[in-house]
Amino acid sequence: NNFEALGLSEPLLRALQDQHYETPTPIQEKSIPALIEKRDLLGIAQTGTGKTAAFSLPILHELADDWEPPAPKYPLSIILAPTRELAIQIGESIESLGRHLPVRHTVIFGGVSQKNQVKALQRGVDIVVATPGRLLDLMKQGHISLKHIWHFVLDEADRMLDMGFIHDVKKIIATLPKERQTLFFSATMPKTVSGLASTILRDPVRIEV
Ligand code: AMP
Repeated sequence: NNFEALGLSEPLLRALQDQHYETPTPIQEKSIPALIEKRDLLGIAQTGTGKTAAFSLPILHELADDWEPPAPKYPLSIILAPTRELAIQIGESIESLGRHLPVRHTVIFGGVSQKNQVKALQRGVDIVVATPGRLLDLMKQGHISLKHIWHFVLDEADRMLDMGFIHDVKKIIATLPKERQTLFFSATMPKTVSGLASTILRDPVRIEV
């Protein structure tokens, strides 16, 4: 019942120690091994369960494993969140968990100038955390392409649909490669949400906490 047993690499274990995370939460304990094995995941979990680290740790683990020196390249992981606040929070979590790794990330959201976001993308990033509207804007302008994505995370899918992002989310998904790992999180599973989940997940592990 510790993070070592879940198969995470040493730089991540050190970051967990730095943050005084001693014991994995139930969703972390169940999802991390399955995600390291590259399974798709359907996670039914509220905020406060530790779901952010549950998806961030395996993504960082795999990116660090195959990391190559900075070169202009495409993002490998995209995390979609319904709100700017949540996107920023996920970005902070990736920042602290990835502190001993060379993996680069950025956060993209609307309501602010896109200038610095475009600059970060031009420098090159491995992980992008984004809200759907601004991400689509930047995609349309050619500032970002998702054609080399390995990991796609849809966080708080129920809220995403409640907020009317379904069309944007579908447009984004249509540009992803078919060969990818998909992680789908929702606090609730009404029919519209499970319908979307079943169209984008491939033989997922289902974890409810
Ligand atoms: P989340 O559900 O991802 O929003 O996380 C809820 C809170 O729990 C955040 O403040 C995390 O920093 C914290 N947290 C996540 N995993 C652990 C852990 N294994 N041990 C202690 N705190 C944690």
